[in-house]
Amino acid sequence: IKDGYQCAATSEWLLAEVARAVQLGSREVNTTATIGITLFPDDASDSEQLLQRAEQTMTLAKTAGRNQFQFYVASVDQAIRDRKKLEKDLQRALPENQFHLVYQPQINLETRRIIGAEALIRWEHPEQGLVPPDQFIPLAELNGSIVEIGQWVLEQACAQAAQWSAKSMPIRIAVNLSAVQLKQEDIVSEILDTLKRFSIPPGRLELEVTETGFMENLDSAVEKLNQLRNHGINIAVDDFGTGYSSLTYLKRLPVQHLKIDKQFIHDLLVNDEDTRIANTIIDLGKSLNLAVIAEGVETEEQEFYLRNRGCQLAQGYFFSKPLKPADFEQFIADFHAKLVVDSTHNG
Ligand code: C2E
Ligand code: CA
Ligand code: CA
Repeated sequence: IKDGYQCAATSEWLLAEVARAVQLGSREVNTTATIGITLFPDDASDSEQLLQRAEQTMTLAKTAGRNQFQFYVASVDQAIRDRKKLEKDLQRALPENQFHLVYQPQINLETRRIIGAEALIRWEHPEQGLVPPDQFIPLAELNGSIVEIGQWVLEQACAQAAQWSAKSMPIRIAVNLSAVQLKQEDIVSEILDTLKRFSIPPGRLELEVTETGFMENLDSAVEKLNQLRNHGINIAVDDFGTGYSSLTYLKRLPVQHLKIDKQFIHDLLVNDEDTRIANTIIDLGKSLNLAVIAEGVETEEQEFYLRNRGCQLAQGYFFSKPLKPADFEQFIADFHAKLVVDSTHNG
């Protein structure tokens, strides 16, 4: 068992197994269990104490009602219960239309033009309001529902790209592709079919894949990404610098973009190490002929530094937060209008 969350899942399974009715002659016998859980090494460092505390927790759980599990530390118990509840609520999110997409502009630092947008999912939870993707995407990856959610994201993004195309806004849209999606046998045909259905040229789509996304199954990932690339789809390495960042795999992958993770941009010019990492990624991009996108650009100083250092593309609150489609259209109009005014002023 890896962690508390998996422990909860195993406990639920155990409780369900124990609760299955047993036929004893002509009688049906029903049993339930109660489970107390301690985690090593947080709750105790030796087995005797772990068991003692687990038993104590089990006794406490019985007083609260049987047929359930409980963790030794109340805050751990609450956190895991909250996650379980979220996972359950997540099942209804897609059928009940609780998701929508927002779009964050990607800017060419040299020409100051908007060249694309990253599509980011939002979940409007009926009671909790907006739940950040960092909280529910990992759950969806764990239980596999990311495959369905990811397909929905792709369709929404393609529908949006088609609408923008009809309005003479040929924007390239970047969609996050989870490692779990990439492992699907039919992912390549699913993506190509979706593009076809919405009449989107493959060059309009960029897929953002993290390093962990393809390292787990490199050969198969390389093959799928090659197929996608051969059809003209762009591939970006997301969160670059946080994982393996190995040259060997970069050479093998049909990648067009490296995205510098926002953690390195956040402390750019403040923290030496982060600045060096950002510089290294920009140089790596140059030598491998890959365009580099800085993500999480929040200040003018960061933008100025990155532009001078030779980073071509950027994305971040300094330009814009992720926006709903109508606001995105307005943003493009304003941004490019300002560009015209600026260039006339500069002669
Ligand atoms: P990511 O792919 O690294 O996305 C960038 C995150 O940085 C987004 O967070 C974005 O809103 C945020 N961000 C953009 N500019 C700034 C900035 O200037 N400062 C700061 N502090 N943050 C900025 P978000 O939307 O909360 O998404 C978080 C993560 O959830 C994403 O990280 C991505 O891994 C995942 N995610 C979001 N949408 C999807 C999706 O449709 N599919 C999959 N598989 N994952 C998604
Ligand atoms: Ca991304
Ligand atoms: Ca990131």
